[in-house]
Amino acid sequence: MIVMKFGGTSVEDAASIERVTEIIRARLHQRPVVVVSAMGKTTRKLLQAAEASAAGDRSTTLAAVAELKTRHLSEARALVKATSERAVFPIIDRHFDELKKLLEGLAILGEVPPRGLDKILSYGELLSSAIVADALNERGVRARLLDAREFIVTDDRFGGASPLFDLTNAKVREKIAPVVEAGEVAVIQGFIGATREGATTTLGFEGSDYTAAIVGAALAADDIQIWKDVSGLMTTDPRVFAGARTVKACTFAEAADLTYFGAKVLHPKAIHPAARQNIPVHIYNSKKPDATGTAINATAPPCANLIKSIAYKRPVTVIRARGESISDGARAVAPEEFLKALLDALDKHGARPLLVAVSAANVALAIDSATLSEARARDLSEEVARFATIRIDRDCAIVSLVGEELRADTGLAGRVFKAVEDTELGVILHGSSPISLNLVVAERAVENVIARLHAVFFDRLDPQIFE
Ligand code: ADP
Ligand code: ASP
Ligand code: MG
Repeated sequence: MIVMKFGGTSVEDAASIERVTEIIRARLHQRPVVVVSAMGKTTRKLLQAAEASAAGDRSTTLAAVAELKTRHLSEARALVKATSERAVFPIIDRHFDELKKLLEGLAILGEVPPRGLDKILSYGELLSSAIVADALNERGVRARLLDAREFIVTDDRFGGASPLFDLTNAKVREKIAPVVEAGEVAVIQGFIGATREGATTTLGFEGSDYTAAIVGAALAADDIQIWKDVSGLMTTDPRVFAGARTVKACTFAEAADLTYFGAKVLHPKAIHPAARQNIPVHIYNSKKPDATGTAINATAPPCANLIKSIAYKRPVTVIRARGESISDGARAVAPEEFLKALLDALDKHGARPLLVAVSAANVALAIDSATLSEARARDLSEEVARFATIRIDRDCAIVSLVGEELRADTGLAGRVFKAVEDTELGVILHGSSPISLNLVVAERAVENVIARLHAVFFDRLDPQIFE
C-alpha cells in the first residue's frame, strides 16, 4: 500500500479537490491511504480568529468564521450533485458550531492557551478531510473518513507535539490496516493528534507531511507520496529564483539537510520515519500529476553536478561572542569555561543554534529568529555580556549548498567564494555536515547570492538527475 499526502494548495478549492480525486482513482491498485492538510490558508485564518477573539475583537472573529464557513460550504457544494443526501454538510455544520463555542471561550479567557489553540486549529484538517472523503465517495471511490486523534498519540507539548511511537504505531495498524484490507481508501487528517487522555494536539505548522511519514512507516508502506504545488524538490526555491529546476533523485541525507536548512518543500521531521525503514518518499505536483517529481531514497545515482540544491533560511539571528575579555562582576569565567558558559546561557534562554562555529576564543552561532524573540535575544545578550563581548545581528540568513558529492570535494570553498566575491559574507561553514556548506549572509542578499550560486553550480545539469 502507499500513503498519499495532499498539501493545502492541493485541496484549496473544488477544482483542486476534483483533481485530487482523479489522482487517487488512478492509483487505487496501489491501495492508497490519503492524508490531507487544511484547505490553503485555513490554518492561518483560524489562528487569526483565535487571537482576535482573545483580544476581545468580536467582529473580526465572527467575520473570519463566517468567511471560513462560506468557503468550505461552497467548495463542498461544488463537488457534489445532490447536496441533501451528503454526509458532509451536517459534519461541516457541527464543526463550525463547536468552533464558535471554543472561540467564545477564548473571549472570556482573554488569552489563547496552547491547548485551546490546538483544538481550534484542528478544525482546518477535520473539515478538509471530510470534504475530500465525501468527494471521493460521490465519484464512486469507496472512501472512509477516520479521525487521526484515534491513532496519532502524542505527548502534551501543545503546538508542537511529538508522537509516542509505540502507541501510535500499534493504533495506526489497528485502525487503518482493516480499512485498507477492506479495499477502501482511508482518508485522514494531517497535522493533528491527541494525547493519551484524548486532548487534541498538533504536530507543529506544516506538520501534515510528518503525519504521512508516521503513518507510512507504521504501515510499512511501499511509498510515501507528498503531493504539492511544485514539481518536486527543486534546485532552489522557485519563488526566490525563477530558473529553479526539478531534482529527480536525492538521498534521505540530502533531503534531511535541505529541509533542516529551510527548504520548505518537505517538513524536516518527515524524512526520519521513512529513512529509518527505508521507505521511498516521492514529491509530486498535484497540478501536473504526470510530471516526474522527485524520488528520495537511501541512495541516489552518482551526480555530475557537485550539489543537488540550494536552501535558505531567514531571518536568522547571528551571535558573535569573544571570550577573552573576562570581566569579573557577578562571576568570573575562565577562558576554557567560556564555551560552556555560552552554551549554558543559550540553553537557559531556550535558544537552539542551527549552526555553531568555534575558533579559539571566538564563537559564532546562528539561530532561527522565529525561535528567539527580540526580548529573549536581549536577555541572552545581557547575560553573555557578563563574561564575553557579544554582538547580535538579527537580519541575517543562512544559504546552504547540499549534495552527497561534497563528501569528496576539496575545491568547493574556492568556487563559492568566487561566485559571491562582492557579497559581504559572514561565516562559512563546511564540516558541520559532510554534505552541506553553509554561508551566513545578510537577509536582503539571499536572492542575489542564490542567483549567483545557481549560475555557477547549475550552469550545466546532469540529465540523469535534473529535469
Ligand atoms: P503544501 O502546503 O502544499 O504542503 P508548501 O506550500 O508548504 O506545500 O510547500 C511548497 C513550497 O515550498 C513551494 O511552493 C516552494 O515555494 C517552496 N520551496 C522551498 N524550497 C523549495 C525547493 N528546494 N524545491 C521546491 N519547493 C521549494
Ligand atoms: N494546516 C497545517 C498548517 O498550515 C498543517 C499543514 O498544512 O501541513 O501548518
Ligand atoms: Mg503548507
